[in-house]
Amino acid sequence: MPSYNFAAGPATLPQPVLEQVQAELLDYHGTGLSILEISHRSAAFEAIYQSASQRLLRLLKLSAADYTPLFLQGGATLQFTMVPLNLATTHHRVAYADTGHWSQRAIEEARRLPGLTVDVVTTAAPDYTTIPPVPALATDYDYLHITTNNTIMGTAYQQLPKATVPLVGDLSSNFLGQEYDFAAFDLLYAGAQKNLAPAGLTIVVVKTKYLREATDLPSMLNYPALAKKESALNTPPVFQIYVADLVLKWLEEQGGVAALDAENRRKSALIYDFLDQSRLFSSRVAPAARSLTNIPFTTGAPARDAAFIKEAAAAGLLNLKGHRLVGGMRASLYNAMPYAGALALRDFMHQFEHAH
Ligand SMILES: *Cc1c(COP(=O)(O)O)cnc(C)c1O
Repeated sequence: MPSYNFAAGPATLPQPVLEQVQAELLDYHGTGLSILEISHRSAAFEAIYQSASQRLLRLLKLSAADYTPLFLQGGATLQFTMVPLNLATTHHRVAYADTGHWSQRAIEEARRLPGLTVDVVTTAAPDYTTIPPVPALATDYDYLHITTNNTIMGTAYQQLPKATVPLVGDLSSNFLGQEYDFAAFDLLYAGAQKNLAPAGLTIVVVKTKYLREATDLPSMLNYPALAKKESALNTPPVFQIYVADLVLKWLEEQGGVAALDAENRRKSALIYDFLDQSRLFSSRVAPAARSLTNIPFTTGAPARDAAFIKEAAAAGLLNLKGHRLVGGMRASLYNAMPYAGALALRDFMHQFEHAH
């Protein structure tokens, strides 16, 4: 019986990628070295870095003249600090949309910086089951920050807000799995462990115009300094970047973001259609705001939820426990979750409903 990993992150990776990693782990392309041992200054790693950068821009349909990808550490969480440090340099005033836990974490971290005004311009409080519109903004904001997909609440932007100031996005949990006009962003970032690679890598894609002028920020927090050294100001996470390149190749082979978006809609519709007619399971999220990648749901009774999670795990459907902030269950259906996995979950829910 196959098992499926519904964890929100670190999350499932494509099976063919894991097999390739295993096959070439002991000797990377005839170098006589494992990828775990090779130097970040080697020609082999340089080729991986260039390949991953190019694939990333191709998948996002962004031009290499206008955008620069960075492969960093510190998680999406460090970007909560690096983004305002690097981008809030003209007006020292920034706008945030509060759509869930990770938006709030981004707001909290921005508020720790002295001399910065952080305005929450829209909020999904108190329920966080919708995506509220962004009002017209004053022009003296350095940027508007949004979280495209709310991993814990299970909501997502279906369309990007029309921003009259530079747009910054935390795309961690629907990165390359949902189609957006990526050129609408001045900067986007994503922790890799949701959709792209093992934990320890953060993707930042930033308009090259922000990299032209040197700043006096500490080097490791400084996009221009990091870009100048192709993300290797210190030893970069070689293995994670290697896996990311293989996953990016796999994503291109699947047909790119548009194809993955369509497939993720097909997978998530299996679960949403079931929830909509179920007499046992339900979702609190407003249909217009439903995430393609993270689906929280519940039976309404904590003991029954616990029984479901336990029985599902015994049937090979792993990591369905919901986030502690919302309880219940959560199914994460990232790019690497096969349709068969979503189908197996739907069938198991059906069976559980009949038994209870
Ligand atoms: C998981 C997650 C984060 C935190 O990512 P780290 O890489 O662990 O710092 C931030 N934002 C969103 C939307 C997430 O899903």
